[in-house]
Formats: sequence, C-alpha cells, structure tokens
Amino acid sequence: SGILYIVPTPIGNLADISARAIDILTHVDLIAAEDTRHSSLLLQHYSIKTSTISLHEHNEAQRTQTLVEKLKQGLSIALISDAGTPLISDPGYTLVNTCRQKGLNVIALPGPCALVTALSASGLPTDKFTFQGFLPVKQKAKLEALQECISLAMTCIFYESPRRVKSTVEMCIEQLPNNHKMVLAKELSKRFETFISGQASDILDWLEADLSHQKGEFVLMIYCPKKHNDDIPIAAKDLLKQLLVDMP
Ligand code: SAM
Repeated sequence: SGILYIVPTPIGNLADISARAIDILTHVDLIAAEDTRHSSLLLQHYSIKTSTISLHEHNEAQRTQTLVEKLKQGLSIALISDAGTPLISDPGYTLVNTCRQKGLNVIALPGPCALVTALSASGLPTDKFTFQGFLPVKQKAKLEALQECISLAMTCIFYESPRRVKSTVEMCIEQLPNNHKMVLAKELSKRFETFISGQASDILDWLEADLSHQKGEFVLMIYCPKKHNDDIPIAAKDLLKQLLVDMP
C-alpha cells in the first residue's frame, strides 16, 4: 500500500519547514489539508504543485474512507493542518487510527509544534508535563482543569484563545495556590514573540497594559509545586504523638 505522511508545517515563521517536509509534499500523490486555501499560501511559497483535498473536523469520518481507499491503491498522501503538527489540537486522529487498524503505513515527520516550542523556552520544569489542548470554554470544566493542574504538580500546558486569555488568567488568580508559577507564550516564531513569566497577577498586569497584548496566539503554562503539608520533622511529630497519648 501507499504511505500516509504526517507533515508538520510552520506555526508562524515560514522558514520553519524542514527540507524533508518540502520533499515529501512535493512528491506525494495528494496532500490532505485542514484548509486547502490556507495551505495554498505555504505550498505556493515553496512551489509545491501537488493536488490538495480537504480534511477537517466536519468531514474527517467520510474523507477517511476515501483516503484509505487511495492508500490501498498504492497512492501516497501527506496530511497537513493549518499550522504545526497535525492531530495536535488539529484534525487527523480518525484517519491515522483507521490506517493503523488496517495495517497501512504511517510515517510522521518531526517538526513545529506550539506546545513543545513554548515548553522548551518557558523556564518551567520539563521533566514531566501534561498537555490538554485548549482549555474548556465552560467555567465549571475550566475550573476542574485548573484544579487538576494544581494536584498534578507538574507543568501543565494549555492552548488558549485570545478571546478568553484574560478571563482565564483572572480565574487563575482566584484558584491557584500562592506558590504557583505561570508562563504565557505568545506569537511563537513570529515578529512579536513574547514570553511573560511570573504569577497569574503579573500576567494579568501585562495583558491589561496594552490592548495589543491580548491579541494573537497563546500557550499558557502553569506549574504548581507539590504541597508540603508534611514539613514537620519526624522527631517533632513523635513528640506530638507522645503528648497526645500522655495528655489527660
Ligand atoms: N497543531 C498545532 C500545533 O502543533 O501546535 C496547534 C493547532 S491549534 C488549532 C492552534 C493553537 O495553537 C493556537 O490557538 C495557540 O494556542 C497555539 N499556537 C499555534 N501557533 C502558535 C504560535 N505561533 N504561538 C503561540 N501559540 C500558538
């Protein structure tokens, strides 16, 4: 059968596409793109003339069947999304899952991804982290996501829309413990790339300092160290136990 290639594309800086990605996009039989018009700019820029077909949230189930048939016939297909790595808060899961179940070849190229780019330069712990895509829009679900983040005691990475970033940071001020750290990464690989670090209140101050600060693309990262309600020395604890026993 043919090969399905997962091809990451730039998240802001057009130069961030790999030589291998250009080669694959040029030589496959078909490119499945989240938005064919959006991707035509990138393809034109690199003089890639391969035909495109759309594969987005709303047609993925049906498109998967078409593309699987083509792969079975021996055609090679590249999957791209509007930006970054396909399947990461982007379409493609149904297609890849189906290909794997049917034993078809899938090859992923390494490349741009906003969460890894943001994390690697954040200054927050990188040894363990979680990524949960976009924060929920509904307040209750968002609250639960933040509470989970507190209990995990590791760097939690979220994508957040410019429409909600301010209210989310306000919720963080109310909910996060005093020892939390927060980093907001904005416009990665673009002209106005910015990392703001501190506590939620510092991030809010920055967002409110200039309306332009609330526009663009954001990755929000939160780290809450483990709670040490157990900082009492063992000797002191033993003494307390003894006192409790001895007390009338
Ligand atoms: N597939 C992409 C990836 O690999 O990162 C993510 C796609 S998701 C639909 C788009 C979200 O990713 C944006 O709303 C933003 O939260 C984040 N994002 C994408 N590009 C970014 C950039 N250049 N700077 C900051 N965040 C970015």
